[in-house]
Amino acid sequence: MLRPGSTIGILGGGQLARMLASAGARLGLRAHVFSPAADDPAFEVCAARTIAPFEDEAALAAFAAAVDVVTYEFENVPSDTAAFLEAHSVVRPNPRVLALTQDRFTEKNFVRGLGIETAPFENVEDAAMLAEAAASLGRPSILKTRRFGYDGKGQTLLREGVDLAAAFQSLGGAPCVLEGFVPFSREVSVVAARGSDGAFRAYDVCENVHERHILALTVAPARISAQTAAAAVEMARKIAEAADYVGVIAVELFVVEEAGGERLVVNEIAPRVHNSGHWTLDGAVTSQFEQHMRAVAGWPLGSTRRHGVRVEMRNLIGDDAEKWPELLAEEGACLHLYGKKETRAGRKMGHVTRVFP
Ligand code: AMP
Repeated sequence: MLRPGSTIGILGGGQLARMLASAGARLGLRAHVFSPAADDPAFEVCAARTIAPFEDEAALAAFAAAVDVVTYEFENVPSDTAAFLEAHSVVRPNPRVLALTQDRFTEKNFVRGLGIETAPFENVEDAAMLAEAAASLGRPSILKTRRFGYDGKGQTLLREGVDLAAAFQSLGGAPCVLEGFVPFSREVSVVAARGSDGAFRAYDVCENVHERHILALTVAPARISAQTAAAAVEMARKIAEAADYVGVIAVELFVVEEAGGERLVVNEIAPRVHNSGHWTLDGAVTSQFEQHMRAVAGWPLGSTRRHGVRVEMRNLIGDDAEKWPELLAEEGACLHLYGKKETRAGRKMGHVTRVFP
């Protein structure tokens, strides 16, 4: 168990690292942020910084020597970087989780292996494999690159009549998975944490609304039955235990309405704090950021109890952030801005939470 005053190393310097560093500071934990991008938002709020490429072994060695534990805010940490750091420090969550979640095909096989349902999927490495997969999964189906996809990037919908070879080429000819279309009624996520002692705590399952493939709104709790919510949390627990996970994890799921009730299909695992957990900053006793810092420091997990009957989180994307004066003036609105130097369309600039008592 680290003492207050210890230093948590964070790979990546985006808004997630910024909020982790701020939450740690409140508990007397120092954050040392490592990122190649000098103007990253986390650099403004951390105790120490390294601006260097993830491949710079001298910089990584100095970073490992300066911190008490290493964590990360994004899943695309290069595997060599993670292996190097693991040889020189403690890395939490363990880097095997990165290997699992960086590749959609590996991730889905892992989830299936636990007896948890995913969308039907097929591996696709060339146009001929795509033709076979499309014949077996039907249309519509969704072609996704196995690696480096986010916010709808690296995926394309295959409707009836879409040319398969062209669709495959539109994603750069990279290895893909083809997923059968899941006719979901809602998208929900479980944000949870596992401590170094194996303790597990989940927040209320929350409901997510995407606009143009980017998360727009999260509402906690999700409008699903208590039984479905409990089943979703059990899936997250099973995944975290199987991965010997330490830290905050997010599991995104589809809810499918059926005659017999609601069915859950896991879409994706994020081995980190997650946008759909931002509501916990103002809407729960312990925020997901504090929870993650507690877990990686080997501290006991905090209470995940929700404040109020309902909590909403809305992302401020691109120009939405220009609404800051009215949001500051709104009774009950909690504004969070990430300090990004440049506003771009589709860029997450901040968010606002509202707790309904
Ligand atoms: P992803 O990048 O996998 O999170 O997908 C982005 C969004 O596309 C999801 O949040 C869903 O709204 C939609 N989507 C992804 N996969 C499927 C699927 N197999 N069936 C239906 N919708 C999907």
